[in-house]
Amino acid sequence: MNEARAGALELVLKLRDAGFEAYWVGGCVRDMLLQREPKDYDIATNALPDQVLALFPGGHAVGRAFGVILVPDSGKRFVEIATFREDHGTVDGRHPQRVSFSDARADAMRRDFTVNAMLMDPVTETILDYVGGRDDIARHLIRTVGDPQKRFEEDYLRLLRAIRFAATLQFAIEPATADAIKQYAPCITSVSADRIRIELTRLLLEAPRAGDGVDLLDQSGLLDAILPEVSAMKGVEQPPQFHPEGDVWTHTRIMLNTMQSDDLRLAWAVWLHDIGKPPTAAQIEGRIRFDRHAGVGADMADAILRRLRFANRDREIIVSCIRGHMRFADVPQMRPARLRRWMAQPEFPIELELHRLDCLASHKKDDIQKIIETIQHELANQVSLPERWIRGTDILELGLPPGPEIGYWLQEAYDAQLNGIADSRDNLLQWLRQQIAGRHPDLP
Ligand code: ATP
Ligand code: MG
Repeated sequence: MNEARAGALELVLKLRDAGFEAYWVGGCVRDMLLQREPKDYDIATNALPDQVLALFPGGHAVGRAFGVILVPDSGKRFVEIATFREDHGTVDGRHPQRVSFSDARADAMRRDFTVNAMLMDPVTETILDYVGGRDDIARHLIRTVGDPQKRFEEDYLRLLRAIRFAATLQFAIEPATADAIKQYAPCITSVSADRIRIELTRLLLEAPRAGDGVDLLDQSGLLDAILPEVSAMKGVEQPPQFHPEGDVWTHTRIMLNTMQSDDLRLAWAVWLHDIGKPPTAAQIEGRIRFDRHAGVGADMADAILRRLRFANRDREIIVSCIRGHMRFADVPQMRPARLRRWMAQPEFPIELELHRLDCLASHKKDDIQKIIETIQHELANQVSLPERWIRGTDILELGLPPGPEIGYWLQEAYDAQLNGIADSRDNLLQWLRQQIAGRHPDLP
């Protein structure tokens, strides 16, 4: 049994020893039924927040109003212990007006999707399923607990969570739930930028096929509401000789499906790298062109990432990857020093991976990548020499007059250093003084 599981079991047992009901709940139960490793274990109990705190003095209330206490297990891993509750009313399309403490059944009913609403007795491994969650897991379906319209009206973030769970678990969305998502999609804009950014990023990074995930976003109408600039890529045709795969949207989706990454900067750079194409598309002498799309797209991405309140450093890196993504075409003609300086920049690996995915999702040529790999290989095998211990001035100070002989002794000293004749600068100086004295008995 792994440590997280053992720690969460120990907390349940302690609550039960004190006479309370306690279960594992939510995502961990879902993941166990799917034979996946749960990310963390949450606990639901009928103990009131003060009773939880009395039992676990190391705990602290994170959402006291909601009855959520973070408690460290014996391995100092924090586990969320939440009192069974029901939520009443909404004020802002996100938070309940009031909560009341309740029982296990009501606690299941307030949760978002049936697959997330089961409780489990960790001792007997019995599942408490008040909402048909087990059937939906078996059928691979995301379905709201209860009436979808009502449940989305209570909290519009659930619109995006539905898509994220469908994409990461590779489940379908039950039709009534899907219809309600379409109906309420425009309301997503009332959810905070931070929550939207977090959900979109999790979808990009956790979905086995993130391209299918963004398709779901599109079909649900959420993409139009959140990122119309990305939506605009649909149907923007590209020259078939460079892009046999199809339009800009298809190209981007293929890249996202191929991407395997836990780096949000790469994921967002991939998603947004061609958003400059729709506004720059033009027919010039019968050919489709997207002149300056990288620069235009970089500026658009900058605005999007500011809107979604990305950390400045992440935003800058994503934007610079997009701005530079056509530079790879210049690699064969680039001066070596310029190429090496570029390759030495910390974000270069992200740019190169963006380029690799870009090629794979279109003409499938990898000649530029090969050039870069060859240089990287050479650089990796280049032994870097240590700094010189002895400089020209040191030799002048030993009394030798300025002149060509200084160069000779410099070289001798460096060879001696590289050959390990002395183990420190002082010893090397002493060795050098003796050598010079041997040649110039006249020196002081
Ligand atoms: P993950 O593996 O992504 O963490 P999770 O199911 O644990 O998935 P959390 O966001 O950690 O998801 O939430 C824990 C549980 O709380 C969910 O399983 C769900 O039962 C409930 N929950 C979370 N957010 C909401 C919400 N907005 N509305 C209703 N229930 C929610
Ligand atoms: Mg969780």
